[in-house]
Amino acid sequence: MDLNFTPDEQAFRAEIRAWVAANLPQEISHKVHNALRLTKADLQGWARILGKKGWHGFAWPKQFGGPGWNSTQRHLFEEECALAGAPRIVPFGPVMVAPVIMAFGTPEQQQRFLPGIMSGEVWWSQGYSEPGSGSDLASVKTRAVRQGDKYIVNGQKTWTTLGQYGDWIFCLVRTSTEGKPQTGISFLLIDMKSPGVTVRPIVLLDGEPEVNEVFFDNVEVPADQLIGEENKGWSYAKYLLAHERTGIADVNRSKRELERLKRIAKAEGVYDDPRLRDQIALLEVDIVALEMMVLRVLAAEKSGKQPLEIAGLLKIRGSEIQQRYAELMMLAAGSFAIPFIHDAMEAGWQGDHVGAAYCAPLAGSYFNMRKTTIYGGSNEVQRNIIAQSLLGV
Ligand SMILES: Cc1cc2nc3c(=O)[nH]c(=O)nc-3n(C[C@H](O)[C@H](O)[C@H](O)COP(=O)(O)OP(=O)(O)OC[C@H]3O[C@@H](n4cnc5c(N)ncnc54)[C@H](O)[C@@H]3O)c2cc1C
Repeated sequence: MDLNFTPDEQAFRAEIRAWVAANLPQEISHKVHNALRLTKADLQGWARILGKKGWHGFAWPKQFGGPGWNSTQRHLFEEECALAGAPRIVPFGPVMVAPVIMAFGTPEQQQRFLPGIMSGEVWWSQGYSEPGSGSDLASVKTRAVRQGDKYIVNGQKTWTTLGQYGDWIFCLVRTSTEGKPQTGISFLLIDMKSPGVTVRPIVLLDGEPEVNEVFFDNVEVPADQLIGEENKGWSYAKYLLAHERTGIADVNRSKRELERLKRIAKAEGVYDDPRLRDQIALLEVDIVALEMMVLRVLAAEKSGKQPLEIAGLLKIRGSEIQQRYAELMMLAAGSFAIPFIHDAMEAGWQGDHVGAAYCAPLAGSYFNMRKTTIYGGSNEVQRNIIAQSLLGV
């Protein structure tokens, strides 16, 4: 198995690097490199820049207006963006719902929804989880009842990431209570401006309203916003989740954050402390190992072999690594990192703080990273899936 990049792939990387350097606004990359708060304008601004180039849907085939890159090119694109300090592409539109619309939507739905996702103009949210239906997703209760040419939706979603900005939300809704829970679920696209939709923020440990509750009270949804067949939504939902877990590994971001960790340790004069160095070295080894896993997936795809079914493994390792670098940054900065100052995550913040400016936002990032082993399917549940599917336990 050849894990090296070919000369053509290296030339492709150079092209992406030059384009990102010329087009990524410096004030955005500054925030990313320092783990400062990104606004909707930052996230959508970058999405629009990518959209103009036809790269917001960087994994899309040409047929739907994407660049038609292969998996290695997509990986190189993501790596170059991450290392340059670009924000992560908000995945709900281009990475999650778009492939479902391409695979299972009608031509009319494709024409209606895909251009707004590619351009970055329309913000999508993910409405899967509900109170009591997270790991046990098939138990979703939000009800959609067909009345003529529309559905009437009642119920509640929760943990909806950045739903406060959402224009549209893709939802798993219950359309039948007959048979197994999985067989009565449908996949519905809902305009969040519809009467009866209420979004209520949930403030996380870092003080940010990053997630929301979304309530549906007799919301009327035109039936032509159903994807595929009624009661077949579970198979579309699973198709989507495989995309989510591979992305969550986000090895490229970890490579960038490892460098930030080293910068902090050097600036604090503890880079040569043998115990901290050990921890940093172990982290680096694990990041390289994760990268090798990702490259193995790419090499398998390139050689036409069956793609390796290791999305769950990538999710577990990637999310643990993200928590470890946040912890090690705290350790490197020592007592200077301990006070949690919510405002310190704002670019340009100049409040009172003992220690270097880069220490002040560290506690916020540390708290924020607690989420990574829960979202996208908790790591415990991923372990169960791996045990069954890979180890045959
Ligand atoms: C920051 C954040 C953002 C999110 N964004 C979104 C979003 O945009 N859209 C969306 O739909 N959802 C979102 N989620 C929801 C996420 O997918 C769920 O939180 C996750 O699937 C876990 O479900 P739960 O919270 O209901 O926990 P539960 O399922 O109640 O689990 C509670 C605990 O029990 C463990 N557990 C449960 N079942 C088992 C089992 N069978 N074996 C072993 N352990 C088990 C879990 O690992 C966990 O530790 C988000 C979550 C977070 C934290």
